[in-house]
Amino acid sequence: MTPATESSATNADRNLALFQRAAKVIPGGVNSPVRAFKAVGGTPRFVSRAQGAYFWDANNKRYIDYIGSWGPMILGHGHPAIVEAVQKAILEGFSFGAPTEREVELAEAILALVPSMDMVRLVSSGTEAGMSAIRLARGATGRSKILKFEGCYHGHADALLVKAGSGLATFGNPTSAGVPPEVVQHTLVLEYNNVEQLEEAFKLHGPELACVMIEPIAGNMNFVRASVPFIKRCSELCTQYGALFVFDEVMTGFRVAPGSAQEVYARSIPGFAPDMTVMGKVIGGGMPLAAFGGKRAVMEHLAPIGSVYQAGTLSGNPVATACGLATLKEIGKPGFYEDLSHKTQSLVSGLTGAAHAAGLEFCGDSEGGMFGFFFFDALPQNYAKVMTTDNKVFNAFFHGMLDRGVYFAPALYEAGFMSAAHTDADIADTVSAAAEVFKML
Ligand SMILES: *Cc1c(COP(=O)(O)O)cnc(C)c1O
Repeated sequence: MTPATESSATNADRNLALFQRAAKVIPGGVNSPVRAFKAVGGTPRFVSRAQGAYFWDANNKRYIDYIGSWGPMILGHGHPAIVEAVQKAILEGFSFGAPTEREVELAEAILALVPSMDMVRLVSSGTEAGMSAIRLARGATGRSKILKFEGCYHGHADALLVKAGSGLATFGNPTSAGVPPEVVQHTLVLEYNNVEQLEEAFKLHGPELACVMIEPIAGNMNFVRASVPFIKRCSELCTQYGALFVFDEVMTGFRVAPGSAQEVYARSIPGFAPDMTVMGKVIGGGMPLAAFGGKRAVMEHLAPIGSVYQAGTLSGNPVATACGLATLKEIGKPGFYEDLSHKTQSLVSGLTGAAHAAGLEFCGDSEGGMFGFFFFDALPQNYAKVMTTDNKVFNAFFHGMLDRGVYFAPALYEAGFMSAAHTDADIADTVSAAAEVFKML
């Protein structure tokens, strides 16, 4: 029996068999919760291989991939230049625990594209980068309190697993067991895009704030842009009160524009630049690599020259940096972002047209190779609104698309990702599959 002739029942069984086997040895059967399909129900697909815009599950069923490892695979899977760079690097050695020229090259390449940073330090995950950025902000300012916004995810450092307390005078409550309330007592959580609340919070706590951290285009509540006035006011208040404004661009970095989301905002706010930036995902091209950086005066507080400790056995790993460098080289080619944006826009407008034709409320938005869509008539401005999405409708859409070989994020609060490998035909197939599914909702 060739894989192509296998029945869908057999297909479901192989993924299910793996999931059941996994659940015996890995909590929940997965190494990161969203992979378990808990939000949408059903059996997670176990990926066996990927190429270009597609991956195949344990039964050899093909999917058009719109998660791209949650962002890193901006070139699609198995890009020849990336494969070659990684193979070459592997032959030279996996890890040394001593500095390499490639780390310097990658740091230079990142700084050349994101001029708000004078220096950068490489780490292995976005969580590590975000956690280190906060420690550095606290060390550099000598202040303890930090401000974040509801719906923004900055990794799972203890101080960030927090939801708003009651009222602006109180700080957060933990959202995870194992995080003592004392650990989040310095974290203030505000509503995204709410300028009034922001002003109020600064009046109360401004002089004690080490930093304000934000996902400028939030991809962890589907796709919600911070408004230009909101970013502008955050920046002004940080300057006025001596807090650092930290852009978490782990998802948006090199995903939405060559200069990342800060370039998008600088088009509307002349001279705008965050004080610090956190990067991940695309800069590793699919290998474990992340970074945080900022102005020299801030970054020089880091060990070994400064008093803020931060370290990592595999930081700046030679194979990961080869992968990241090769990725940055490809996305630096002329017209890369124009092509990518055009594809993303055509997907979002195709989906919107098909949904409207089926009489559904629907809207979407995108920037570069990142997109989101909602079963609403207007784009939401904050997390509370995103979470009013009808779960049943979203889940039926997700599974209808999955059955038709299109893999969107298995949760209504996650963004989607286009790659350079997606073709117009892939997008047309996606839209016609969606047109069928929309009619059934
Ligand atoms: C993915 C993500 C993180 C965490 O990165 P990991 O590599 O998963 O630890 C942090 N911030 C944002 C905005 C992200 O999208």
